[in-house]
Amino acid sequence: MTKHNFYAGPSILPQYTVDKVAEAVKDFAGTSLSIMEISHRSKEFVAVMEEAQSLLKELLSVPDGYHVLFLGGGGSTQFAMVPMNLMRQKSAYLNTGSWASKAIKEGKFFGELVEVASSKDANFTYIPRDYEIPADADYFHITTNNTIYGTEIKEDLDSPVTLVADMSSDIFSRPVDVSKYGLIYGGAQKNLAPAGVTFVIIKESILGKVDRDIPTMLNYKTHIEKGSMFNTPPVLPVFAALQTLKWIKQQGGVEAMLKINQEKSGMLYSEIERNKLFIPTVNDEMDRSIMNVCFVMNEEYKDLEADFLSYATSRGMLGIKGHRSVGGFRASLYNALPLESVKALIQAMKEFEKNN
Ligand SMILES: *Cc1c(COP(=O)(O)O)cnc(C)c1O
Repeated sequence: MTKHNFYAGPSILPQYTVDKVAEAVKDFAGTSLSIMEISHRSKEFVAVMEEAQSLLKELLSVPDGYHVLFLGGGGSTQFAMVPMNLMRQKSAYLNTGSWASKAIKEGKFFGELVEVASSKDANFTYIPRDYEIPADADYFHITTNNTIYGTEIKEDLDSPVTLVADMSSDIFSRPVDVSKYGLIYGGAQKNLAPAGVTFVIIKESILGKVDRDIPTMLNYKTHIEKGSMFNTPPVLPVFAALQTLKWIKQQGGVEAMLKINQEKSGMLYSEIERNKLFIPTVNDEMDRSIMNVCFVMNEEYKDLEADFLSYATSRGMLGIKGHRSVGGFRASLYNALPLESVKALIQAMKEFEKNN
């Protein structure tokens, strides 16, 4: 039976990426060695790192003055690295979910942190729009896609201070005006590569303004100066990221990704709204994520939840159980998820409705 991979992360990657990694695990770039066995200083791997950086820049039209880094530590290490490198005294954060809350917790270790708004009062089912960013903040931190709650900031915000964004789960899902941001980061395991590599897009001019001593490995300058080769980078995940970047380019780039992502998520939200058994957890269309679609059973059908999950699972749907803090269901529709998988899920929803 065909399996449909709706996992939230780690999650589906293009078959192209999986195949190229499988080849390279056996014989990397004609070296007769595995990608896992070769020096990161070899000319073959240095070429991979350089191409991954330049292709990422090309796909997102990253302007001059920015660097692309591939680091370890996951998105979560960036929660601390950002304030350590950027916060002199004060920072501002928008609290839109669990990941944002975790970033806020780390930020508080480094100075005064202003939470400009929070949607916690409604279990993070919307994106706050009414707030003021203090003009004396060193930066403003947002989480563009809230993987757990299925909300998303789908436009590039205007910020009077340096804008910093966690784009772990929506990078490459749409074009981004990088010039509006000082720093963009994310763990790669949602839309780019296997777990183990973290991308950082950073504007060099925002650095060098804090007085504190920064440990070498946690200092962005270290990694800028050494082209992400200060220490051993996550070699295999970087190789995989390059394959996904090539695949995105073959598909027509991030504009093409946006189009298909809008189509996929639009179809699924329409079915959730049409189907009497289900309701979406995010009401405002403007706030609905095109990457993670969250929905629950309509109140009067609540007792069918477990049944739908097992029905869908028996039809090949994997990973649609909602996060424990939301319940219900979550279908993650990352770039690599084919349209056919969304159609299969919709078909299962329709049939389950008919049977009940
Ligand atoms: C998954 C996720 C993270 C955490 O990334 P790790 O690499 O596991 O540390 C952070 N932010 C968002 C928005 C995420 O979806």
